[in-house]
Amino acid sequence: MSDAKTVAIIGAGPVGLAAAAHALERGLRPIVLEAGAEAAHAVRQWQHVQLFSPWKYNIDTAAARLLATTGWNSPDPEIYPTGRELIDHYLAPLADRTALRDVIRTSHRVTAISRTGFDKAKSKGRAAAPFELRVRNGNGDAVLQADAVIDVSGTWFSPNPAGGNGLPALGEAEHRARIAYGMPDVTGAQRSRYAGKTIAVLGGGHSAVGTLIDLAALAEDAPGTQAIWLLRAEDPARSFGGGSADQLAARGELGMAFAALVRSGRIRVETGFHVSRIADDNGRLEIFAGGDRRIGVDELIVATGFRPDLSMLSELRLRLDPAIEAPVALAPLIDPNEHSCGTVRPHGARELAQADEPGLYLAGMKSYGRAPTFLMMTGYEQVRSITADIAGDKKAAARVELKLPETGVCTRGGLSSIPALPGCCGGPAPSGVDSCCVDDVKAKAAGRTGCGCS
Ligand SMILES: Cc1cc2nc3c(=O)[nH]c(=O)nc-3n(C[C@H](O)[C@H](O)[C@H](O)COP(=O)(O)OP(=O)(O)OC[C@H]3O[C@@H](n4cnc5c(N)ncnc54)[C@H](O)[C@@H]3O)c2cc1C
Repeated sequence: MSDAKTVAIIGAGPVGLAAAAHALERGLRPIVLEAGAEAAHAVRQWQHVQLFSPWKYNIDTAAARLLATTGWNSPDPEIYPTGRELIDHYLAPLADRTALRDVIRTSHRVTAISRTGFDKAKSKGRAAAPFELRVRNGNGDAVLQADAVIDVSGTWFSPNPAGGNGLPALGEAEHRARIAYGMPDVTGAQRSRYAGKTIAVLGGGHSAVGTLIDLAALAEDAPGTQAIWLLRAEDPARSFGGGSADQLAARGELGMAFAALVRSGRIRVETGFHVSRIADDNGRLEIFAGGDRRIGVDELIVATGFRPDLSMLSELRLRLDPAIEAPVALAPLIDPNEHSCGTVRPHGARELAQADEPGLYLAGMKSYGRAPTFLMMTGYEQVRSITADIAGDKKAAARVELKLPETGVCTRGGLSSIPALPGCCGGPAPSGVDSCCVDDVKAKAAGRTGCGCS
């Protein structure tokens, strides 16, 4: 083992753990550095959320091989787990009961990375110098050397701010106590914070939609709860998905259910709302959208996506796309203007290596920069290829082993959390049919008014 290359893996999320499993199989020496007190620290923050991909897409192959040696029972491939179940049935056993146990260092935050004896400006001999990672743990700062670095530290802890221009809105930091980011557990752990309140949710993606649906459910048994959807776009239709024409059935169903909630008035909508300023109004939040336009609420949930924290990489030579902040070769493949998660093609070391900093790779959620379309299974393929590359198996690194399904992987289960809705049942109607659902189509064909079509 003494000749084995040391690979520093930053982050013990699903992709970091998979990277370590692949590295072990390749005879490399992985060291996983995790800032949190336990593996899957970021997933723990959204553990109440139901995944939109079923188990068959959430388990890495090398990780499964490691787990198999412990007598692990793999979960039903067709079931959609929650974040909690992902931890309990996969990530925690992987981190705690396999050989990974000996390579994970929790409560170890990487704060900076450079190369031994080389600052960023110095070139000659640079590629042969080992990486030097500054690591902070309970005992202060320490230095760790590594032959290669895989940065899989995710983006969960650097959410986008509320400001419509990408900057924090004026007053956003000052009113932090009544602003939450991402997907707070509004019907569970955070229920008392939101029950009976007026809550604005800012954003147009899955997180915003999921939170608004949860707030509508909360309003059912907590009178006085009112959800307001703040949308930067003028047209909310994009957030409803493809409806009955959506190839991804459950996603279409979710979008239609959400659309029905909005139509019914249970969620108030403010479109074209670009937050500029947040102020206090007698204990309530006043949210301004430029000029005189404003709304008053008790709480604001900002669900405008995430961006990578690049600060620890500032002493390294990085080539990132200036808009998406993803590695330059990857950015065109994942441009959110062009791709949904089902259409991003699998990729690996070739797209993720840094040409000016050999041995450094960005992977996992962080590699997608500001693009919101990352999937765990794509990350597993990334680290399979990267570890092959580090081990010198260029053929395996160049091979694409992942077949992304055309549909299905972006769907979300858990429709049970949606309150009963008028006019939507029986699954999405076939495309091109003027009906809200399959049962509706059948009822109309039989001359009836249809389910919910009174
Ligand atoms: C609410 C939500 C639902 C999702 N649902 C799905 C789904 O259904 N299917 C799917 O395929 N994908 C889903 N994703 C996308 C993605 O697969 C997950 O975010 C996944 O957790 C990403 O894995 P990761 O390992 O890249 O990063 P993370 O899970 O974010 O892990 C990164 C780790 O790095 C640690 N870290 C951060 N900074 C440092 C540092 N400086 N030093 C050391 N450690 C550090 C963090 O504590 C964390 O443990 C979802 C994402 C979210 C937010």
